[in-house]
Amino acid sequence: MTHIMIAGGGIAGLTTALSLHAAGFERITVVETVQDIRPVGAGLNIMPNAVRELDALGLLDQVEEHSVRTRELRYYHRSGALISCEPRGLGAGYHWPQLSVPRGGLQLVLADAVRTRLGRAALVGGVKVTGLDPLPDGRARVQLEHRDGARRGKASLEPDALIGADGIRSTVRAALNPGEGEPPWNGMLVWRGVSWMPAQQIGTFMFIAGDDRRKAVVYPMTMPTRNGGEVLVNWALAMPADSVDDATRGDWNRPVPVTKFLHHYEGWDFDGVSVPEVLKAADTAYEYPMVDREPLERWSHGRTTLVGDAAHAMYPIGSNGATQSIVDARALGHAMALHPDPAEAFAAYEAERRPAMTELQRANRQLGPEVVINLAHERAPRGFTDIDQVIPRSELDEIASRYAATGAFDPQSVNQGSPYGPAVRSRR
Ligand SMILES: Cc1cc2nc3c(=O)[nH]c(=O)nc-3n(C[C@H](O)[C@H](O)[C@H](O)COP(=O)(O)OP(=O)(O)OC[C@H]3O[C@@H](n4cnc5c(N)ncnc54)[C@H](O)[C@@H]3O)c2cc1C
Repeated sequence: MTHIMIAGGGIAGLTTALSLHAAGFERITVVETVQDIRPVGAGLNIMPNAVRELDALGLLDQVEEHSVRTRELRYYHRSGALISCEPRGLGAGYHWPQLSVPRGGLQLVLADAVRTRLGRAALVGGVKVTGLDPLPDGRARVQLEHRDGARRGKASLEPDALIGADGIRSTVRAALNPGEGEPPWNGMLVWRGVSWMPAQQIGTFMFIAGDDRRKAVVYPMTMPTRNGGEVLVNWALAMPADSVDDATRGDWNRPVPVTKFLHHYEGWDFDGVSVPEVLKAADTAYEYPMVDREPLERWSHGRTTLVGDAAHAMYPIGSNGATQSIVDARALGHAMALHPDPAEAFAAYEAERRPAMTELQRANRQLGPEVVINLAHERAPRGFTDIDQVIPRSELDEIASRYAATGAFDPQSVNQGSPYGPAVRSRR
């Protein structure tokens, strides 16, 4: 029976395990550095192309229990003037919704499904992949470090295939690309957090607002569930910084007080949603540098490949990082079902996914669809009364549809249904 090891139990790793299981594989081990997967982290928007794949895996109802449907995305000029208002998900003609979801909620649904479908032993916490040694037959010997008290120590395993789903600072990627170094920083700092807010103060839409220097993204991600009507709101802010200290560079989840940056957003109000009020309601903010990865020439080496951020970390623009990790997972499961040799399967998966993800990484470096904020600021720094005089509707539409075509997540492509359908052959 083919033994597949997955390094990393984030969204990419867990969805890959579920996709491989749906494709007929039974012997799958996910090793995850963190001992217990806990509901931590901020929010994510999952686009309809990935929601379709969660649906194909039979998980849509469970994920929807933790989410709200994103029905509208608004872009605002820093002055408060509306640049555009786009329907999202079903309202935009997709057969699947777009979902705003707390990251921990999505991760718990995926982890529970892995344990239920593949068995509890399939997800091993407290184990870090520390390195690889290539073997002559194309496999890799995987070096592991057990971090929990009872089994502390080193070990190694030689799975039939290895999938690196270990995020932007992937050990598997580093072993395949020695000398690549730290992810490059683009000079922006990001602060993100969550706040409980009365529903009437937050609206039901997602918005992205700002100018050529500062940006704010805000959206509700639960129904009014707390204190008789509060919703959990996700927010992320970006701003240039002269430098970033080593503590921030090395740690994505560095807690900092909201007061560190609140003053930069005084007076930011968008159709009644006050950014300072949202920030003041947060317990903690997390700071990290805006980093991505240089596109790779290849993801697969023999029987080892990469998925998710390990393969193609991109700037958090266009709600695509986790979304595309889910699509990677399904594409990989499908390729493994069609090709008995893992090396051939990995090559087929990479041929399908890498060109589009490279294009998306590059598009996000040019700000993707969010470029409309900069254009509006450049052309009308003090604001406007008629957006058509600043950015005509046809130009706005062109920017949105060009970006959607980059990753084939336009309604027409998505509504054709999952190309990765249930491809189960015999259990292997
Ligand atoms: C501010 C911000 C907003 C975002 N918003 C969105 C959004 O709205 N929509 C969207 O789709 N995406 C969004 N993203 C991107 C998204 O968070 C990532 O693309 C996604 O989490 C990648 O998932 P992953 O599983 O590949 O990596 P990760 O989530 O990083 O998971 C990697 C896992 O591997 C484990 N690990 C690491 N090293 C090892 C090792 N050596 N051995 C074993 N385990 C290891 C880690 O503990 C972790 O659990 C956003 C990102 C940011 C920063």
